[in-house]
Amino acid sequence: MNETGLSEEQIRNVLNDSKGQDLKYGRVLSSMCTYPHEIAVEAHMQFIESNMGDFGLFRGTYNLENEILGSLGDLLHHSEASGYMTTGGTESNIQAIRSMRNIFQRKDKCHRPNLVVPDSAHFSFDKVSDILDIELRKASLDKDLKVSIESVMSLIDENTIGLVAIAGSTEFGQVDQIDVLSDIAIKNNIFLHVDAAFGGFVLPFLEDSQEFDFSLPGVTSIAIDPHKMGLSTIPAGVLLFRSPDQLESLKADTPYLTVSTQYTLTGTRSGAAVAATWAVMNRLGKEGYRKVVSDCMSTTHYLLDRLAEIGVYPLIEPVMNVVALEIPEADLVRSRLAKEFNWQVSITQNPHGLRLVIMPHVTIEMLDSFVQDLKKVLDT
Ligand code: PLP
Repeated sequence: MNETGLSEEQIRNVLNDSKGQDLKYGRVLSSMCTYPHEIAVEAHMQFIESNMGDFGLFRGTYNLENEILGSLGDLLHHSEASGYMTTGGTESNIQAIRSMRNIFQRKDKCHRPNLVVPDSAHFSFDKVSDILDIELRKASLDKDLKVSIESVMSLIDENTIGLVAIAGSTEFGQVDQIDVLSDIAIKNNIFLHVDAAFGGFVLPFLEDSQEFDFSLPGVTSIAIDPHKMGLSTIPAGVLLFRSPDQLESLKADTPYLTVSTQYTLTGTRSGAAVAATWAVMNRLGKEGYRKVVSDCMSTTHYLLDRLAEIGVYPLIEPVMNVVALEIPEADLVRSRLAKEFNWQVSITQNPHGLRLVIMPHVTIEMLDSFVQDLKKVLDT
């Protein structure tokens, strides 16, 4: 830091230069985030100083958060769900599993707890394992890239605190058989966390939806991210629990704040993202999100048709707007697409393929140009 500050003009010049180095979403086919809705941006700026870490000072923002939790509880079929707004899927996953661990430890079990997750689980669960010292047991996937039920059952033992199911896997957009996992969780008297960080704002709005939420009795917590398909600003995640005891297990005393307890992982929390989420959810309503999802799915199907014309096919029929393509030497293709044509795509690990996420910023024109460039790469 300099002794004296820069002029506003100097600051703007540096910021403009840095912004110019950022990629625009116009060539990005790898991100699960997108441009936030304009009403979300407006609300974010209006509440920019609001700190939900000390919500006694920001009662209005706190009320907005409660309304969001109520609306998402309704959407996910449990209007009494309790929870809070997190910084995103990673924090929601950490806190969901921390709650399982805390409740498990209360039962005087002294062995190291384990958690059974699909092999397709987001890498945030590796962080969970490290932070909470929980053994992570990765269940293999079946031919549809859903978690194998046999594999899950074979990994459960007396120290298993819970299962994780994915509703919209990061790499494949696949949804596990959550109804079956719900039965298994109940039979074994363990928790079941559903990671719907991406799919939570997709599945309820698809024409052909499937049960993945609190309507299944074994589901005990859900992560759902407004800053992904919810079109809110970053950082906006939501963690919901079936029972207030689960949230209660995360309680910490906060003697010097206006409120005496906190359940969150972070202390200071963005009230701006809360206001943004409230604004976009209420502006769009279910009808608006149905349109967003339906447009993304039409664009996804358009892409599949265009890819079929050049002999490229998906590893599985996409369930949502995530497409994993069967492409030999996918790493090389990915780096050539970036170097030669400035396209940002990503990779799936197992099976190996090229991964595209068809977010609302992805247009038909973008995809026409992408398919042409992909063909050039594959032909040479
Ligand atoms: N869970 C799933 C299924 C995800 O796809 C992601 C991110 O893409 C996360 C969790 C982590 O979310 P975040 O990056 O918001 O922490």
